[in-house]
Amino acid sequence: MLTDKYNRPIKDLRISVTDRCNFRCTYCMPLDEYAWIDRAEILTFEEIERLAAIFINLGAEKIRLTGGEPLLRRNIENLVAKLSVLPGLKDLSMTTNGSSLAEKATALKSAGLSRVNVSIDTLDPEKFKRMSKRGDLNRVLDGVFAAKSAGLNPIKINAVIERGVNDDGILDLVEFARSNGFGLRFIEFMDVGNSNHWQTSNMVSKREILDIIGSRYPIVEHGRRAGTAPSVDFEFLDGGGDVGVIASVTEPFCSSCTRARLTADGKLVTCLFSESGHDLKAMMRAGASDKELSDRIEAVWRSRTDRFSDERLEALQSATGYQPEAHKKIEMIKLGG
Ligand code: SAM
Repeated sequence: MLTDKYNRPIKDLRISVTDRCNFRCTYCMPLDEYAWIDRAEILTFEEIERLAAIFINLGAEKIRLTGGEPLLRRNIENLVAKLSVLPGLKDLSMTTNGSSLAEKATALKSAGLSRVNVSIDTLDPEKFKRMSKRGDLNRVLDGVFAAKSAGLNPIKINAVIERGVNDDGILDLVEFARSNGFGLRFIEFMDVGNSNHWQTSNMVSKREILDIIGSRYPIVEHGRRAGTAPSVDFEFLDGGGDVGVIASVTEPFCSSCTRARLTADGKLVTCLFSESGHDLKAMMRAGASDKELSDRIEAVWRSRTDRFSDERLEALQSATGYQPEAHKKIEMIKLGG
């Protein structure tokens, strides 16, 4: 089995299908102006399909389509149709802001998408607009319910919690998810990219999030799905489903990270906090064979030593502290969350 320096296999592949996004979430990539990837540099569906098959041969079992906003990629359902039939793929999912899901859900389901995560950080329409700088909550909610009607299952809501911004809406999100049968994952605010002005003081920890949930609903810990999922899951004791928290700042899970990432312009990235990637598109367009591409991915993975979030926690707990701006990272909008 292909493993990296810390014995971690490749199990998941996150594919960013575009760096474009119609939102400018303040915690992700809030800049209005941005040097977008040139369209000619974006991988075609055929190139993505080819690389996905190679990653599956190397051990990947799950693929998540993301971005940028994946539903902005024209005819994305055609890519879903190509990927969903790849031999060996066990799970094909998507993370979306949901703004076009109402129009796309049925086509995505028919094309073979199994499930979807939709980012909803608040149920307050005004606050939603402020946090996304342009999003319309009602459109997103229409999208989530369209996904449910289309049979995408499970539907999970992702919510990034920022202190003093949306931490007062945690219980509203819990009620919404419970009453509609949606999964819910709270995400600790992370220092992704270079423009979100992250500070530890703005991050609401897993402990705090659980205390707020537990103040109304008793919960019991389940642990990580398959032992390796980013989210630690908790079950409501009254049978109301479950809720998870992704605590990459306070309880990093680098030791079990089996995720490879492919940027929209075909770079293999081995950590969400990487400074650079490994250009597979250039190799492909220069005529590399599948074997050559596979050998390159294998070589990159074998030498992988990333444990950024572990190191962040060590720095946060040290006398010198942690300086997020000292480390330049690829923007999340480019490499896919
Ligand atoms: N546009 C899609 C969306 O909105 O879900 C997919 C891309 S987005 C970058 C993927 C996920 O990353 C979303 O769930 C988003 O909430 C999360 N994310 C973005 N910035 C984050 C941050 N600073 N901390 C934690 N999660 C973040």
